[in-house]
Amino acid sequence: MDTQGWKYKHLLQEFFLLKTESNINFLFARGRVALFAALKSLGLGAGDDILMAGYTCLVVPTAAILLGARPVYLDIDPRTYNIDPGQLDIQYTPAFKALIVQHTYGIPCRMDGILAWAASRHIPIIEDCCLAFGSKFQGKLCGAFGTAAFFSGQWNKPFSTGLGGMLIVHDEDLSGKIQSLIDRELLQPSWAHRFRIWAQIHLYERLVTPKTTPWITAVYRGLSKTGLAVGSSTRGEYSGKTPKNYFMAMTPAQVKKGAREMERIEANIAHRRALTRFYEENLPSAGFATVELQPDEDPVFVRYPVRVANKEELLAAAFRHGVEIGSWFESPLHPAGTDLEKFHYRPGFCPKSEKAAREVINLPTHPRVSPAEAARVVEFLQRHGKVCLNRG
Ligand SMILES: *Cc1c(COP(=O)(O)O)cnc(C)c1O
Repeated sequence: MDTQGWKYKHLLQEFFLLKTESNINFLFARGRVALFAALKSLGLGAGDDILMAGYTCLVVPTAAILLGARPVYLDIDPRTYNIDPGQLDIQYTPAFKALIVQHTYGIPCRMDGILAWAASRHIPIIEDCCLAFGSKFQGKLCGAFGTAAFFSGQWNKPFSTGLGGMLIVHDEDLSGKIQSLIDRELLQPSWAHRFRIWAQIHLYERLVTPKTTPWITAVYRGLSKTGLAVGSSTRGEYSGKTPKNYFMAMTPAQVKKGAREMERIEANIAHRRALTRFYEENLPSAGFATVELQPDEDPVFVRYPVRVANKEELLAAAFRHGVEIGSWFESPLHPAGTDLEKFHYRPGFCPKSEKAAREVINLPTHPRVSPAEAARVVEFLQRHGKVCLNRG
């Protein structure tokens, strides 16, 4: 690995207070690939059930399905959008072999109950930290609780490596297995792929602002469908096919961006906290409910979730006005339009998740949003959003 790679790894290790020898992190093309590597190295496959929130990205169950395992979905707690620990025993069967714990929107899961349950059943936990970087539960960082934790560097995540995935492993045996899987099977990106990623990172840094986000996103989706740009997902992925070049490493441009982002991670987190305070102070007077946190929950919000009664109408208006309001999660398996049954999800299975998918929009907290822009977002919400009366 080159100097940028070592630097990126070192900064991650420092952030997570890892012992360099026993807690190695790996750099992949996407977050889902990091998850896949962990699941595969745990020896999971046909006949195994993998538990996860029924309020996630489609690519999470896909990583299980690609191994022949079956995703089993848990409904969320409508307060935190995270799995409800009370569901674990209700759903339990001996086929359960792993639990993916996702810290949704950056809100930490209640890990005490979850860890106790998993330990009593000898079930490994993989933390999905794609939306949580710097969040803490009872003073401990998300990503430090499970056997392993994975992170995404996709454009909308806590920090972007222009797509990308990281994996932190807290178990030496598993870490060794992952390293040998990487040595055997991990593909290296082609020159064409490296070039496209490099160009995308540069264009992104120059062009994307909150006001240009809606139309740039539309253009990017169009270009990635034609294959000119490297998109988040391939079309086949939405129907459960193994994507080409799935198990691939990060490119050097992504590694370099990762190192740069880690150097300014504290400023990034401070900015997100400041905008969160602004939303918490200003949403109630606009009529909207804020997230009710308990004293031991210390989230760094990647986006701030708000329930509205007119989600689709509001998103359409936001697009017209150039206001950066997000739609996830659009479905229990984001994005909308997924053939859920192909992914072993039956409508009605997670009613609280489905309700959240109909109601929740999210507000930006990232460093490109100025306080003035955040004020414009709240004003827009006040003008166009309809208040959602009941929550759960
Ligand atoms: C984005 C995301 C992923 C997948 O990350 P990729 O890098 O796109 O593979 C997984 N889980 C959650 C919760 C996410 O938000």
